[in-house]
This record gives sequence, C-alpha cells and structure tokens, in this order.
Amino acid sequence: MDDLVLQLTADFPKLKFQPGNDFYWSSKTNEIFYKVKASNKQAAWSLLHETGHALLEHKTYQADIALIKMEVEAWAEAKKLGLKYNIKIGEDHIDKCLDTYRDWLYKRSICPNCNSKSIQQNDFIHYRCFNCHTVWKVSTSRFCRSYRSTKSIKQNQSLAI
Ligand SMILES: [Zn+2]
Ligand SMILES: [Zn+2]
Repeated sequence: MDDLVLQLTADFPKLKFQPGNDFYWSSKTNEIFYKVKASNKQAAWSLLHETGHALLEHKTYQADIALIKMEVEAWAEAKKLGLKYNIKIGEDHIDKCLDTYRDWLYKRSICPNCNSKSIQQNDFIHYRCFNCHTVWKVSTSRFCRSYRSTKSIKQNQSLAI
C-alpha cells in the first residue's frame, strides 16, 4: 500500500493522501483517505478508484441519480491508472461494486414507513414519500460511510464508496 501511495504522490503532487480507517475521497478537504494496513489486491483497486474520484474532481453534493455515473467514471479512471502502474483491476470486482452501489441507492429511496419507492428532493439530502408523506434524510457525503436516518428507520444502510 505504501509503495503505491508514494508512487501516486510522486505522479500527482497536487493530491493529498491521508492514512485513515477506510478508502474514501473527501471533496471537502481534497484528501484521499486510505487504510494503511490493507495490502491485498482489492486495497490497491480501492485506492486507484478513490484517486479516480479525486482526479475527476467529483463533488459531494449530487443527486443520487448522478452518483452512479460518477462511480462508473471513477472506475474507468482507476482502470487507466491501473495500466500505468501495472495493476489489473478485476471486471468482476467493478461489476460487484456498481451493483452494491445501485442496491444501496435503491434502498435509501424506499420509504421506511410504507416501503414505497420515493423521489429525492431538490436539496439532495431528503427523500419524501408521495404515498404517506414521510420525509427522511440521507447522508450528504457520498464519499464517506453513509447512514440513512429517520426516527422510524429500521434498516440502516451503510456502504463505503
Ligand atoms: Zn411512505
Ligand atoms: Zn466511488
């Protein structure tokens, strides 16, 4: 992990890499966080993926519908970086990540009260059920671990992206 971080730091001096508990990109602080102790293949893929978000200057506040597009773009960028560093990212892994991500987006759009599929509000933070009018909040930060919160929530969804 350290070698790849050093290489990326040398090649992209503008990017800031910070040791953390997980892999994620913070558009607020312009930092890429990475797990220091992770050393398997998938850790390298995650690091390249988050670097992809950073290079594409992805922003935090977006409609859910735009998020999946950014995920696809970040993986495409990660694959480009992979060619440069001789790291082949498994297509299966990418598919699995995107599927999990779509699932997560779908679940957070489901009303916690009556299970209707609902529409995201213009602030990108709230969903409102047109059936029972329950309003719930979703995380504003797509790059951090996200939790869905309402008073009546039963299934908290979390996902590192
Ligand atoms: Zn409802
Ligand atoms: Zn991502």
